[in-house]
Amino acid sequence: MSLTLQAFQLRTQVAAVIAAAGSMPAEAQQVADNLVLANLSGHDSHGVGMTPRYVDAVLEGGLKPNTGIAVRVDIGTMLALDGQRGYGQIVGVQAMQLGIARAKQHGSCIMTLGNSHHLGRIGHFAEMATAQGLVSMHFVNVLSRPVVAPWGGGDGRFGTNPCCIGIPLAGGDPFLLDFATSRVAQGKMRVAHNKGERVPPGHLIDEHGAPTDDPGVVVVPQSNGLFGALMTFGEHKGYGMAVACELLGGALTGGGTWHRPADTARTVLNGMLTVLIDPAKLGTQASFEVEARAFVDWLRQSPPGAGFEAVQIAGEPERKARATRERNGIWIDDATWGEIVAAGAKVGVAVSADGL
Ligand code: NAD
Repeated sequence: MSLTLQAFQLRTQVAAVIAAAGSMPAEAQQVADNLVLANLSGHDSHGVGMTPRYVDAVLEGGLKPNTGIAVRVDIGTMLALDGQRGYGQIVGVQAMQLGIARAKQHGSCIMTLGNSHHLGRIGHFAEMATAQGLVSMHFVNVLSRPVVAPWGGGDGRFGTNPCCIGIPLAGGDPFLLDFATSRVAQGKMRVAHNKGERVPPGHLIDEHGAPTDDPGVVVVPQSNGLFGALMTFGEHKGYGMAVACELLGGALTGGGTWHRPADTARTVLNGMLTVLIDPAKLGTQASFEVEARAFVDWLRQSPPGAGFEAVQIAGEPERKARATRERNGIWIDDATWGEIVAAGAKVGVAVSADGL
């Protein structure tokens, strides 16, 4: 049975599951709020559907509840942080609070965060920075089953390595570009597979490295026991971006890169390089505000192309989704809901659509 729940209902139920998995109440609530915000923003792949995976990761020992960042290096404008396998929704926010304070003080901050558990929607961190008037750039790698193929390669070698750039726009909402470097999200392929749908060409290769439109190749093991792979966006250019995310988010942060065969672990770790800039300290604040606004207005004046209503700026689709879903509720498909109920049962919580 699929169902539609209001955000507050989902927050309560997910927080109860996370708490039963070992988190203190405040941590459980912060994780739940972050996941529900991803659903509200239209990114169900990074919303409450992650809860079962988090519970499994805790039970597996790879995700450590009630764990904060450790500061490994602090030289003012450079911070090297270790997430110590804590919830990304906790250590990521702690890291950003530190980095934002440094950028406000010195004008910029370069910050590495290794060994964080899944950071969720990276745009969340850029939103924290742009709300303070800062530019924020993020390069992230994913240590989990490698589901994305290198350009010209025939199997999965790395994760969906997201990249995010947040730029404040004076007098309006920020530009918030936040995307996986894979052509599509792995979670979207699971949904398509469950519905029996095919996907457009250029998204996937099968377990032999041949192009396919069958999303099942990255969801269930194939004839030879192997999986197919997602392709990167933008062909060789997106591939290059994905590698940059692995080198910066993985190698440079100390979190490590993926270079081993796939395993079945449920734990998913992220490494993230963040660069924060305060335009006010750079001395260009006034012209930055004027020029950025003028450019965005100029883009919006473009007449709608075929099939489009209007030109949008990155970040707008998420804000529109929030307004709609806050009003109409969040639709949860039955497979996802069943997994959340099962995750609750694993830690002794009876999750129910009518409340706990
Ligand atoms: P996507 O393909 O929906 O692209 C989203 C970006 O494109 C957003 O910035 C959005 O505002 C912009 N956009 C969408 N339509 C637009 C339009 N018509 N005009 C202008 N801009 C538009 O996102 P995705 O690649 O599926 O990624 C989804 C989420 O998954 C992101 O939040 C990302 O951080 C997250 N993610 C996290 C991990 C992790 O390991 N933590 C891994 C991969 C992805």
